Amino acid sequence: MSSFWTRTSEEIRRHLDASAWTDHFASLRVKRATGGTLVLTTADEMSALLVEKNYRKLVARCAEAVSGRPWHVEIEVDDEGDDGQMSLFGLQPGVSRSTPTTPSTPATVTHAHVAPTPRRTAPVDVRRRAMDCGLSLTWDFGSFVMGDTNEFAASAARAVAEAPGGVYSPLFIYGGVGLGKTHLLNAIGLSVLERTPDARVRYVSAETFVNEFIDSLGSDRGRIDEFRERNRRDVDVLLLDDVQFLSGKERTQIEFFHTFNALHRSGRQIVLTSDRPPAELPHLEERLRSRLTSGLITDIQPPGLETRVAILQKRAEKLGFSVPRDVCTFIAENVRSNVRELHGALLRIGSWAHHRRIPITVDIAREQLGHVVQDQPNELSPRAVLKAVCEHFSVTEKDVLGRKRVATIATPRRVAMYLSRKLTSASYPELGQLFRRDHTTVLAACRRVEDEVEKGSPLAGRMDVIERRLVTR
Ligand code: ADP
Ligand code: MG
Repeated sequence: MSSFWTRTSEEIRRHLDASAWTDHFASLRVKRATGGTLVLTTADEMSALLVEKNYRKLVARCAEAVSGRPWHVEIEVDDEGDDGQMSLFGLQPGVSRSTPTTPSTPATVTHAHVAPTPRRTAPVDVRRRAMDCGLSLTWDFGSFVMGDTNEFAASAARAVAEAPGGVYSPLFIYGGVGLGKTHLLNAIGLSVLERTPDARVRYVSAETFVNEFIDSLGSDRGRIDEFRERNRRDVDVLLLDDVQFLSGKERTQIEFFHTFNALHRSGRQIVLTSDRPPAELPHLEERLRSRLTSGLITDIQPPGLETRVAILQKRAEKLGFSVPRDVCTFIAENVRSNVRELHGALLRIGSWAHHRRIPITVDIAREQLGHVVQDQPNELSPRAVLKAVCEHFSVTEKDVLGRKRVATIATPRRVAMYLSRKLTSASYPELGQLFRRDHTTVLAACRRVEDEVEKGSPLAGRMDVIERRLVTR
């Protein structure tokens, strides 16, 4: 066994640079390698997270190369000596259920700069119930950061958790990847169980729903009954994730239509997520579409800069990293696509510094994010900003770059300068060149827009729209 791992390690090593190896792999041990599953373990939670996130496929490939058979790889945190109690809901037992949750404390992360925080625990049976319902213990309301692009969805989710089956059923949450839909769905489930431990909550991805339905269609009649029981009768709160997956699956749609009706009729709660609104889901039966539209529909948009900073700070706290504010801002400015990417960037930077026992600085962040910063697909150019502004105001670039001073042209011009300055790294002189003006003119224009925004000009709202579109291109 040990020679198998030794050889696999050597193979992995050949694919990594030396520091990645010492940082993340040196502490790994084989816990088990049976039945095609290779379980690796380490006491270092950072390494476990990193390997799990970035290197699992590599490990599997190398193990296969050495042994000639495929492996499923799992990474575990060796928490021997720990009492194994993870935090749940961020609440201490007996604490009033209605108090806002605080971020939960990681059970096993140790970090030189951080004093140990008393562990908060929830009753074990509730944790187990949550896991039996298909829920993850980490995604609760306490760890969800609200900002103006997800506030409405998060409030609706909370309202549903407080009064399942009420006026907000079904609740339909849609938005792009990595923006927190699954997190909110999961948080609803945890919160319901926290209030009512014997509530029958079922979290299921639409993909699993489809697969289980197909599996139940065999000749044995009992299996479809069991499937229906599981999804209709034994459920108070149904959380169906990624419903876009039902597109084109006609039979499953019919089944889900009946599931929906059965639950809805008896006042039970349904929450759905999707990557787009019901109206835009292709190949969906009209009856089902209209059911999905019958409750509350809300979207989640990519978070703005301030929310991204807040998300990073919360995450850093949770991981036990001390990350200065300027570093959070730097990461937030450079990683704009979604929250999952933000978390990934933080983990990378944080674990790099953690292993070297050095404080995190902007320089380290820049170095570690090198590839992201350079190849950032969202890296905006002032040109792109100019184009978007022109589109928004329906004016031509030629006019904006020209000399006309009528308000219909002058306002978009100022907005383009201001947003270019705000969203790109271009300097005033560079912008002066692009806009064919002296850099002091650009500076004055930016100041003026700032003033207007401060005075509450409706321009702020319009710029928000442009900015959001640019950032999520
Ligand atoms: P989606 O289901 O929309 O693709 P997820 O819910 O899986 O996205 O979110 C991706 C990651 O980002 C998760 O780790 C989640 O906890 C985190 N995340 C997303 N939005 C937030 C937020 N507002 N606050 C804290 N974490 C968030
Ligand atoms: Mg999801």
